[in-house]
Amino acid sequence: ENEARIIDGRSAAAALCEDLKPRVAGFRARHGHAPGLAVILVGSDPASAIYVRRKGEQCRAIGIASTQHTLPAETSEQDVLDLVARLNDSAEVHGILVQLPLPPHIDTRRVLAAVSPAKDVDGFHVTNAGWLAIGKPTLAPCTPWGCIRLLRALGVPLRGKRALVVGRSVIVGRPMAQLLLIEDCTVTIAHRHSENLADLCREADILVVAVGIPGLIRGDWIKPGAVVIDVGINRLPPDDATPKGRIVGDVVFDEASAVARAITPVPGGVGPMTIACLLENTLRAAEMIAGD
Ligand code: NDP
Repeated sequence: ENEARIIDGRSAAAALCEDLKPRVAGFRARHGHAPGLAVILVGSDPASAIYVRRKGEQCRAIGIASTQHTLPAETSEQDVLDLVARLNDSAEVHGILVQLPLPPHIDTRRVLAAVSPAKDVDGFHVTNAGWLAIGKPTLAPCTPWGCIRLLRALGVPLRGKRALVVGRSVIVGRPMAQLLLIEDCTVTIAHRHSENLADLCREADILVVAVGIPGLIRGDWIKPGAVVIDVGINRLPPDDATPKGRIVGDVVFDEASAVARAITPVPGGVGPMTIACLLENTLRAAEMIAGD
């Protein structure tokens, strides 16, 4: 019976953070101030508040200065744009992160477009998306970049392999496909309208799933020996054992791990790596702005 290697995202993230610490200290020694990340949170969505707090804690743990700008849900779009403009001009801020989702009366694209591409540590600005699309990534989106780091750390060859990305969001699926292309994979992107998703999956040596549907991908859809990266984060309805509801991915983990060579768990796979890559992008932005 096959037993997949469980890809430990927590320890990979911890190792990346250890690597970043001396580089952050070096930046501070050279420039007299720490790399700085500014996080903008509009409204009081509880999940967003947790994410923002975690990002701040992790920044401090490796020596990055983090400031949180919490604005009430009814803040006008112009006030958010004004704050972004101030942060663009601030010499202490090297990374600007706008926590999504924004309230519906604010045009998300307009706000993201206002962030200076040099400080766009989420990699969502069209300028940075464009650099990625021509194969010259600058600041790459954190979640797919974290997936690439996990794949590289596994040591399995990527060049020439068939990769399938399920999902085409601007945040995960599209940049994931671009990064796999840069790794010389043969890349297919599937989405809501894709026919025969199961058959597409069965051809994939590298399968990355970023949809948001628990249990979408079954074990018998997976090519034996494939590497499976499950980006999905879904909370199941509460039951007796888990009154808050269990967190699962988009892949049926038990089935898939009987077939795959390696697989990321949820939680503890892609999630922790995403934050570590945000810290890496903040340091890189600071180094690039400083001309290091
Ligand atoms: P989106 O909702 O923006 O995108 C989902 C994608 O899945 C869309 O492209 C959609 O297709 C596609 N899709 C929907 N239904 C199907 C289907 N039945 N078959 C194939 N494709 C389908 O989500 P995100 O990309 O933002 O996030 C995806 C998941 O990853 C979520 O669970 C989210 O919570 C998680 N996530 C995890 C992160 C982490 O750090 N681990 C970070 C970000 C997200 P179409 O374009 O046609 O609508």
